[in-house]
Amino acid sequence: MSLPPVREVIHTKSTIEGAGVKLQRAFGFGNTKDFDPFLLLDDFRNDNPQDYLAGFPWHPHRGIETITYVLAGSVEHADSLGNKGKMTAGDVQWMTAGSGILHQEMPKGDPEGRMHGFQLWANLPASLKMTQPRYQDIRSSEIPEITDDDGTHVRVICGEFRGQTGPVEGVATDPGYLDISVRPNRKKRLKIETTRNAFAYVFAGGGTFRDSSEPQAVLTDQVANPDSAPVYDAGNHSLVLFDRGDEVVVQAGAEGIRFLLVSGKPLEEPVAWYGPIVMNTQEQLRQAISELQSGTFIKHT
Ligand code: FE
Repeated sequence: MSLPPVREVIHTKSTIEGAGVKLQRAFGFGNTKDFDPFLLLDDFRNDNPQDYLAGFPWHPHRGIETITYVLAGSVEHADSLGNKGKMTAGDVQWMTAGSGILHQEMPKGDPEGRMHGFQLWANLPASLKMTQPRYQDIRSSEIPEITDDDGTHVRVICGEFRGQTGPVEGVATDPGYLDISVRPNRKKRLKIETTRNAFAYVFAGGGTFRDSSEPQAVLTDQVANPDSAPVYDAGNHSLVLFDRGDEVVVQAGAEGIRFLLVSGKPLEEPVAWYGPIVMNTQEQLRQAISELQSGTFIKHT
């Protein structure tokens, strides 16, 4: 067993996207190496409909996957292929844009005005950038939920936990996407694979993540023994980026902690990124933009 060093603790930044949706972005500001194969993570939890009702009207995607997880409220979705749907609390949509789609995503909120959820972008390998678009629409009830003896609760969206496999499948980077709740004051060890990049995104409560490496600049918790492992505080809206290792240790605080634990195999390919289109070369980006202008962007219908 080796604990992965914590590489960085990041706090979200306020961002405006779509037609004026206020959201919190954890990463996705251009540095693609640290999170490879993931490109962006947006936290769109919001209790004020004025901040999200404008939504994300018609826009294209190519070369990536977008993974939307709704916690409260609903998102109405429609695309150029004729797909239409509505995601509600607990649902996941894993969309492989591949060669290209045009779609809109319209957050509607619940009767209390809450619209809560996340959107993660995963990159596609060069060999699949132009693959046929695919949707995996997962209802909340299809997501396995596991409760450990210590009360830790895990929803397995993609990948595996304690022998349960999530419903999302056939994704090239073989990602793991778990929604983990650890009870107050509990310490929990969670396995991850050494060949992956992994991060935890905290969205309720707080706690600390333990590190086996040398102390780093973001160290926040002084320890009595200078030789003991450093510890990093993580509260709501913080993202903990791990280095390679095979397990993560989290100590929940007095309110418990809930976080997404996401991991994936890095692609280590060149990234050319223009808004919602992510390819390998500038030439491929120019091609995509010229196809959008000439109406030849959609390759598979
Ligand atoms: Fe989109």
